[in-house]
Amino acid sequence: MKERLVVGIDIGGTKIAAAAIDAQGQILSRRVIPTEAERGFQDGVQRIVRLIEQVMADAHRRRADLDAIGIGCAGPVNPLTGTIDNPYTLPTWDGVNIVDALQRILNVPVGLENDADAAALGEYWLGAGQNASIVVMVTVGTGIGGGVILDGRVYRGVGGAHPEIGHLAITATGPECYCGLRGCWESLASGPAIAAAMRARAPERDPTSVTGASVLAEARRGDPTARAVVVRAAQVMARGVFTLINLYVPQVVVFGGGVMQAYDLFAPTIQEQIGRDTMAPVDRIELRKAALGTDAGLLGAARVALDRA
Ligand SMILES: [Zn+2]
Repeated sequence: MKERLVVGIDIGGTKIAAAAIDAQGQILSRRVIPTEAERGFQDGVQRIVRLIEQVMADAHRRRADLDAIGIGCAGPVNPLTGTIDNPYTLPTWDGVNIVDALQRILNVPVGLENDADAAALGEYWLGAGQNASIVVMVTVGTGIGGGVILDGRVYRGVGGAHPEIGHLAITATGPECYCGLRGCWESLASGPAIAAAMRARAPERDPTSVTGASVLAEARRGDPTARAVVVRAAQVMARGVFTLINLYVPQVVVFGGGVMQAYDLFAPTIQEQIGRDTMAPVDRIELRKAALGTDAGLLGAARVALDRA
């Protein structure tokens, strides 16, 4: 029997990555193109088809060798119907059905997931969540998102909806969030929230020079103000993680995304606070830094494809 081969696709607001990936999760070839969603959906589909053909050719395979396609896409998306419902970062693609469009052209099964769920699936399959059946992934970057894997499957809400963990309310009095609530996790501990906290503590600085990354770098160098900002963000992180642990009691919590590249700066505070939880079996719950970096989404998309093949 021939080795199965799939293409994983990661669609974001600025770029689309694709890779030919085998059943063991080995990436055989990869390419990236700009998303340019404003050129319209039909144009996007044509460019994605060409991208798929290119990564297959790079891997020295024919299109007939392709077994399935998996897509992780910036949400909201509907994994049950295959539609993208994201007018925010994919303008002109809102309401389109990418699964039907690619299936019609390529005649192979196509699966779609929210990109945060795809990343969680990737880490569960081949990264920091390997060998665990219940994995919660927390992704901290421009926003806070994540995915929940229960018994090896992506947890879904009603109608396939994705749980938005970044909008767990951490404090009743926090800043107003675009979602309509106050004190959301995302509005208190994302990269921009960390930068905002630093600007508030150091008003003498040029605000344009303060970014999430600059605060993390300063904290690493030992700057006391930056360290205090990071500890405060870590305390917020711990409250969010606390809630996820009490809800799902996972074996592993995986921390990914740009801000969590500096996971070691947050870990002592998070670990210490989680240790105070007397309800959950915290001694059996591991907190780990993500292992796959930006490949988590591509590999998770490949897993989606292999499950459909
Ligand atoms: Zn919110």
